[in-house]
Amino acid sequence: MEVEASPPSRSISTHLRGALAACRGAASHAARLALDIALPTLCVACREPVDGEGVCAECWAKLSFIAPPFCPRLGIPFVYDPGPDMLSMEAIANPPAYTRARAAVRYDDVARTLVHALKYQDRTDLAPAMGRWMARAGHELLDGADMLIPVPLHWRRAWRRRYNQSGALARVIERQTGVKVAPEALQRIRPTEQQIGLSRPQRASNVQGAFKVASERQSLIAGRRVLLIDDVLTSGATVDACARALLRAKASQVDVLVFARVVESHKTPI
Ligand SMILES: [Zn+2]
Repeated sequence: MEVEASPPSRSISTHLRGALAACRGAASHAARLALDIALPTLCVACREPVDGEGVCAECWAKLSFIAPPFCPRLGIPFVYDPGPDMLSMEAIANPPAYTRARAAVRYDDVARTLVHALKYQDRTDLAPAMGRWMARAGHELLDGADMLIPVPLHWRRAWRRRYNQSGALARVIERQTGVKVAPEALQRIRPTEQQIGLSRPQRASNVQGAFKVASERQSLIAGRRVLLIDDVLTSGATVDACARALLRAKASQVDVLVFARVVESHKTPI
């Protein structure tokens, strides 16, 4: 019986092994397929599948990348080229404490979607594309910048939100350009109201005195060219208050690079 039993059992085990191997092959093929289906690259704005990374062609077309001509001081786009070194009316009427500001895009619908997702929905996966666009828009400012300083959150807000969106953007720009982030150099020493819904003078007084360079960090800043990093520039009150604090700590120059800036169209032409 044993002699008779062994050949069929061998053959069954051979069949089983073959079947198992086939299953394993099919399973790994299915797993690969499932991975391909589960992890397509998605448009960062609308979440439709997209070739490569970043935004889909449709959302890309809706983003307004800022290109010359623009105000050399504030980076506000001009509707026509007024010639070299022509400043915007806004730069002449309200010169900011910082020297130059640049933004990757205008703050409109797609830009707002990206900013809100990064800021409030933990979508840190958006930072690489946004940071790369910022590095391109800010190449003149990055040239010769000694350090990147993200606009800090008050610790209470940072604790609630778990990370600082400006810090996430600054890290991407650091990786792109090699200019180092100095994350603790500037501190928000008092919590401020959200700037949303405030008038321009209210925004300015809301952030006045809100930022400080700690005395033990002043030697880091003195004589250095600082590039401030933020997600959105609206009235510019926040970055202006930051720039004042950095200049008080003897920074030699402060520039500003943001992902998106509000462009008030009636103020664009000079
Ligand atoms: Zn899209």
